[in-house]
Amino acid sequence: MVYVGIDLGGTNIAVGLVDEGGRILHQGSAPTGIPRPYQDIVADMARVSRDVVAQAGYTMEDVKAVGVGVPGIADPETGVIPFCTNLHWHNVPFRDEFHKHIDKPLFIDNDATVAALAEYVAGVSAGTHSSVFLTLGTGLGGGIIINGKPYSGYHHIGSEIGHTIIALDGEPCTCGNDGCLERYASATALIREARKAYAEHPDSLMGRLCGGDPANISGKVAIDAAKAGDPTALDVFNRYVHGLAAGIISIINFIDPQVIVLGGGVSLAGDFLLNAVREAVRPMVFFKTMPYAGIQLAKLGPDAGIIGAAMLGK
Ligand SMILES: [Zn+2]
Repeated sequence: MVYVGIDLGGTNIAVGLVDEGGRILHQGSAPTGIPRPYQDIVADMARVSRDVVAQAGYTMEDVKAVGVGVPGIADPETGVIPFCTNLHWHNVPFRDEFHKHIDKPLFIDNDATVAALAEYVAGVSAGTHSSVFLTLGTGLGGGIIINGKPYSGYHHIGSEIGHTIIALDGEPCTCGNDGCLERYASATALIREARKAYAEHPDSLMGRLCGGDPANISGKVAIDAAKAGDPTALDVFNRYVHGLAAGIISIINFIDPQVIVLGGGVSLAGDFLLNAVREAVRPMVFFKTMPYAGIQLAKLGPDAGIIGAAMLGK
């Protein structure tokens, strides 16, 4: 049997046909095209799904289930999407709408949870007892897998690790609170701090890397400058890592997973980030002589959204 996995993003709808082992056999995409009625978006998702199945040489009969990762919260039981801020969706009866086009079992979950599942099935946390996945992107998403199953809590509003408060009265967050982890450990936070530091230290290497225009300072610019040993960028990077380590320590103290996986844009910094994070976490661990979560980089990259969505159906 094969599975259809759909990664519903704010910009693109990415669809893949995936086998039992989490391998993508064929994929396609369409623009999300927001804002437009959700009915039209769902119709496009179904259309691309049919195309991808046919182009791969399969029929809908071969498809066991369809899974969808959404950039918001989803109720896997009712198939309703209560909130999807990026898409301006509120209480969208997603499963019912999709079934007007394709009558297959349909599973939905949050995109970070879906990425966590992908890494569990075919990535770096394959076969582990428990794992927590962190996407270090525009925001900071979290996905929790326990005994092979996604865990988002009783009311499906959990695993919002980015909104763990790590600083009382800290940086204001989009969620309405202050001092959330996301404000310190997302790519957005890294960029904000890099721009601030550059304004105070215009001699920083970041200036040359961004062509003198602070608007061009990206997470990559900050990290490249830090890698090159620029003291201003290194200071920003070290504070970033400290924030991320605080979040990781909280995860270890809460649920003690076997593995913590770092994904998303900032994770492209590779071993430079990984080694710094491991270093920063070690002295903060509570039980010094006990083993604790391994920290790893995500392996699947952008395909994780499709693979994980497909595996919801498995
Ligand atoms: Zn928040």
